[in-house]
Amino acid sequence: MKAQLCVRIGPIEEGVMAYTSVPDPQLEPDKVLIKIKACGVCHSNLHMVEGDFKVFGVPSKLPIIPGHEITGVVEEVGKEVKDVHVGQRVGVQVLYESCRRCEYCLTGNEHLCESKRTTGETVDGGYAEYIAAPYDFIYALPDNIGFEEGAPLFCPGVTAYRAVRRAGVKMGQRVIVIGIGGVGHMSLQFAKLAGAETIAVDRSEGQLRLAEELGADKAILSGDVQEYISKKGKADVVMVHAPSQAAVDQAVELVKRGGVILMAVFGSTKIFFPLEYSVVSSVIGSRHDMNETLKIASMGKVRVRYTSYGLGELDDVFKKLKGGQIVGRAVLVP
Ligand code: ZN
Repeated sequence: MKAQLCVRIGPIEEGVMAYTSVPDPQLEPDKVLIKIKACGVCHSNLHMVEGDFKVFGVPSKLPIIPGHEITGVVEEVGKEVKDVHVGQRVGVQVLYESCRRCEYCLTGNEHLCESKRTTGETVDGGYAEYIAAPYDFIYALPDNIGFEEGAPLFCPGVTAYRAVRRAGVKMGQRVIVIGIGGVGHMSLQFAKLAGAETIAVDRSEGQLRLAEELGADKAILSGDVQEYISKKGKADVVMVHAPSQAAVDQAVELVKRGGVILMAVFGSTKIFFPLEYSVVSSVIGSRHDMNETLKIASMGKVRVRYTSYGLGELDDVFKKLKGGQIVGRAVLVP
């Protein structure tokens, strides 16, 4: 099959990705073979390829096929597979599988499992024509969600859903979302759905226009938010989706005393505690979170903003992503 293979770690400009032919994935008894229809390009994929996750031992193998927001059609099922049929529309999320036995797995927090495997980071992912995935870690894609629009639900969608839940967003609260990218544009919508007043903050006008289209009550450039808040009042919840120290410092300035700062970013930033507030972190989501995300999307209550590219166009997509030129999510179509 054709795949985008990360052959070594380094700057994307140095040809670390190869668009090449690789052997088809092996179908093991507990797995299903999925013909991939779309895979979202996550900013974390770019970080991994460029070596930013080396400290976490990611990727755990090389070469590796990145990509962890996958939709497709079941082409073949292994002999131990239950409740999945050939031709079914499905998706694969970041959480490829977990041990199914530990404290976390037994309490519905399998995304926290210490022996979990991560799609496109510890096992081959979705920048390819096929993937084999465990039948109990795939999800039925609702009929009214297209493959390309559905793919980002499997990372930014579920991440935003869980982050809004973890932040405990309630009716009538003021929620500021800093960073209107893949996750941020979904968090805004989930926060609104929870009944909050939503304020989008970003450095780019393009992302702010998207926030307005998606129903944000207010969309403000990073440089102007301080003034707005000094007139209107601070936020009950500030969600940080921009991986920068400036964003974290700003969150501390914008949150009410006793409020919540929700951190859903990968990276090392410092946070100061001049006053009393809670800091909560959130990383992807469980299988239950994933199914809830799909249910809400199929009800038409959240929308994914995406642009489609061919699988061979990854280099171009990575460059655009690095330059902050992708609005919403880029999706690769094999
Ligand atoms: Zn992702």
